[in-house]
Amino acid sequence: MEMRIGGKNVSSPDDTWIEVKNPATGELIDRVPAGSAADVAEAVEAAAAALTGWKKKGMRERGMILFHAALKVREQHKDLAHLLTTEQGKPLREAIDEVRGYANILEYYAGISAQPAGETVRLGVAGDALVVREPLGICGAIIPWNMPVLIMGWKTGPALLAGNTLVLKPASATPLTNLRLAGILDEAGLPPGVLNVVTGSGRDVGEALVKNPGVKKISFTGNCATGQRIRELASAHVKDLTLELGGSDPMIVMDDADIDKAVEGALRGRFYNAGQVCTAVKRLYVHEKIAGEYVQKLKARISALNVGNGLGPKTDMGPLNSAEQRERIVQMVDRTRERGDGTVLTGGGILRGKAYESGHFYHPTLVTDVAPGSCLVTDELFGPVLPLMTVPDLDAAIALANTSRYGLGASVWTQNLHTARRVFDEVQAGIIWVNRHLTVPPEVPFGGMRESGIGRENGYHAVDQYSRTRTLFLGW
Ligand code: NDP
Repeated sequence: MEMRIGGKNVSSPDDTWIEVKNPATGELIDRVPAGSAADVAEAVEAAAAALTGWKKKGMRERGMILFHAALKVREQHKDLAHLLTTEQGKPLREAIDEVRGYANILEYYAGISAQPAGETVRLGVAGDALVVREPLGICGAIIPWNMPVLIMGWKTGPALLAGNTLVLKPASATPLTNLRLAGILDEAGLPPGVLNVVTGSGRDVGEALVKNPGVKKISFTGNCATGQRIRELASAHVKDLTLELGGSDPMIVMDDADIDKAVEGALRGRFYNAGQVCTAVKRLYVHEKIAGEYVQKLKARISALNVGNGLGPKTDMGPLNSAEQRERIVQMVDRTRERGDGTVLTGGGILRGKAYESGHFYHPTLVTDVAPGSCLVTDELFGPVLPLMTVPDLDAAIALANTSRYGLGASVWTQNLHTARRVFDEVQAGIIWVNRHLTVPPEVPFGGMRESGIGRENGYHAVDQYSRTRTLFLGW
């Protein structure tokens, strides 16, 4: 596939390409241009040329284009999901969820497009002030490989509705569905240059985008270290930033919880997308009174998960997205074993056998009795490994939950409203779920505390974060 700049497909000018491979089979699916700083400059020019016309359209008109795009995405959801599974690895069922989730986001933003975008402040004898919301200008969106479609929606939906133009850089492992979606948005009526996609490495294309003085905001999702680098580079022009830098979400299961529901919650919360989700359950704290029954049931469910090619009809969990991601997991589990920092109850290794030899498969894994200093709980554990610890009471659970440098999400499983309220008040996280985990609908603001990042995505808050206010003061 080719890049999309100014509403046109653009090939690699110097014939350098990035190969996109299926993580389940190692097969080459397609290739995309290895773009350069010159391509970013061209895309920023196209975005600049489109800005005035796009800004001048009413918010409702922009919303209608998003709505038409959502209809097209729904019509093509099976093909899009198939492409997503082949480049990312997730089970087809999850890819369908994600593509539909993208359509939901566009529909949500189309739906709020009729809201007034400003206010009047009456100041008596001093006059009146008109507070007007306007777009920031050209924005850059840098997308990760774990949920590339959903996260493209979180950035494109509010940014475009607010009247910005965009240059988007997909992850090099998963650029294809992003490119296909950009084509659909153009077909739905986006004027040329409003949304541009430049493929290429983070070092070349990503950094050129962050450094470009014409780009007024960067919205990034990914690794903490990359986020810190982006923040440093963006400070040169005092750019606006949204940084979503991952998490290490705790899930607390109290002794009054519905055990079966909490087992299913941990299963889905940890093994969805092979554990490669920013708000996945990454640390599980279980009350010691119910731990025996809970661990036995959870172990049985984890051992029964069907791992394979995401296109397989019975697949519960696909491969990890890349050899590097799997190697990180191998090393973290091996280190935990060597140091005696936990007991591997099920899984704990690479899947062997003909069906698995060319893919990046790893056994769904449960580790119990995990030491508080283990890398499984101190680092972001971005794969299908669930560390479980028992706790004597809520105080201990809250104290352990707060030991992470991250603060994205957290959940508590209980029937007691006071317990739920205490977790909300005392656990440092942007989202607290009660008796569920992982749900992130477009209506609700999403984002973390601590080193999980800055800014919020989703909800009307995200439109605010892609716009600024200006004030017209009328003295009479
Ligand atoms: P990165 O943060 O490196 O990649 C995310 C995106 O940033 C990609 O589009 C990447 O491009 C781009 N990028 C990389 N370097 C730069 C740069 N210097 N300037 C601008 N853009 C850049 O994540 P990794 O792929 O390295 O994943 C590593 C770890 O990060 C994971 O194991 C996980 O722990 C965490 N992570 C967390 C995510 C979350 O949602 N919480 C999502 C992804 C990763 P390219 O693909 O071309 O390198």
